[in-house]
Amino acid sequence: MYCKYTDRIKDECGVFGIFGTEEASVLTTLGLHSLQHRGQEGAGIVSFDGKNFHSIRKQGLVGDNFNNTDTLSQLPGKTAIGHVRYSTTGESKPENLQPLFANLAIGGFACAHNGNLTNTFSLKKKLVESGSIFQTSSDTEIILQLVARSRKKKLIDKLRDALSQIQGAYSLIILTNKKLIGVKDPFGIRPLVLGDKNGSPVLASETCALDMIGAKYVRDIENGEIVIITESGLESIKPHKQIPERPCIFERIYFASPDSIVNNKTVYTYRKALGVQLAEENKISADVVVPIPDSGVSAAIGFSQKSSIPFELGIIRSHYVGRTFIEPSQSIRQFGVKLKHSVNKSCIENKRVILIDDSIVRGTTANKIVKMVFEAGAKEVHLGISCPPIKHPDFYGIDTPNYSELIASKFNLEDMTKMVGANSLFFLSLSGTYKAMGFNERNPKSPQFTDHCFTGDYPIDISEILEINSKSND
Ligand code: AMP
Repeated sequence: MYCKYTDRIKDECGVFGIFGTEEASVLTTLGLHSLQHRGQEGAGIVSFDGKNFHSIRKQGLVGDNFNNTDTLSQLPGKTAIGHVRYSTTGESKPENLQPLFANLAIGGFACAHNGNLTNTFSLKKKLVESGSIFQTSSDTEIILQLVARSRKKKLIDKLRDALSQIQGAYSLIILTNKKLIGVKDPFGIRPLVLGDKNGSPVLASETCALDMIGAKYVRDIENGEIVIITESGLESIKPHKQIPERPCIFERIYFASPDSIVNNKTVYTYRKALGVQLAEENKISADVVVPIPDSGVSAAIGFSQKSSIPFELGIIRSHYVGRTFIEPSQSIRQFGVKLKHSVNKSCIENKRVILIDDSIVRGTTANKIVKMVFEAGAKEVHLGISCPPIKHPDFYGIDTPNYSELIASKFNLEDMTKMVGANSLFFLSLSGTYKAMGFNERNPKSPQFTDHCFTGDYPIDISEILEINSKSND
């Protein structure tokens, strides 16, 4: 059943913003380039030239749509924000591209959002019933509507009012005629960092975007924090009751760029440590360690170094095909996996191969690649996954499918091994995952991450989403 209040939007996104510099929209374009791995469906930039707001939102890759000379002339001004977006089946509508922009009573308001709200249904129902008209099916528009309808006088109070009503994961970058604002949800689920480009403040999903424009990393935006950047400087407020942060563990396992820095270490370092830990937990005799590129490369390096089994590029990845999940249906997705990977026979033939990937979701990639490797003459194929089995869907902004599509939620290890067709399949333990992240163990009372995809421990209530999903499946 189609639900009139929600389109089941799930976004993986990247956000960027820069304040008070020449060529703001060009720098935003560059920032979005480096965040392209966070979303390939579409991109958008809104700039402010001191008088007017300018907006371009296009489906497709940043490089295909934003060319530096044109960008600057069409998006003038010293302040700009941008967004790259990725969504799932049936929702790739141009109107859902961000940043969303509205002319409110207090002036223009543009918003770029990474994450997912969890109480969209009830909020939208209330808003629609009291006369709001929605132009998109994006949960971000709810934030705009709540700000627009707030009876508070000042923009920041209106925003606080809106934030007090929304639940879920959100890292926001907001642009008004005087301010650039960064917001992180109370758990700090999605990332957001602050940088400095020759005195101009920068906000971005990951530090790789700062490196791209030659900006210095200043600090992470904290969980539950709002930073307000104006001509007079930066102000920080924390409107919520402070709780321990719980960033999404999957950012480190799969989503973030390997060169981004989190807690003083590159994401690559964490991924390599996951591979080391996987080798520590699983002693397998084999001739070669082969990554499933690109996602398995860092962990495979760690696995190979720890096990002293040689690392070989036995699978070659085409860089002209995007992330496989972008394909809308299962049949096309399978075709996509073939397009993306081919076998380097010389490394595989007559060998006992350990394949390494970062995760298994539906099992499509693993099944195809194991088959390819056997067809190329491997004697044995063992598949190591550098995270625990993903048994629960994500509702906080990373696109993982429903329970029914998650292979590890439906099948046990033995059945999964048969389904992927490998001689053996092994996953990293949850405690090993925490260890690789630099923690002794997962503290059951106050876990350091949101790790619901492995544990089902959702820190933010998802009952509304589950209810809607069950009605949609009726
Ligand atoms: P699957 O083929 O459905 O089992 O998906 C697993 C592959 O997709 C692995 O190679 C992962 O690196 C990659 N992957 C995992 N999570 C995601 C995600 N949220 N979006 C896109 N790709 C993903």
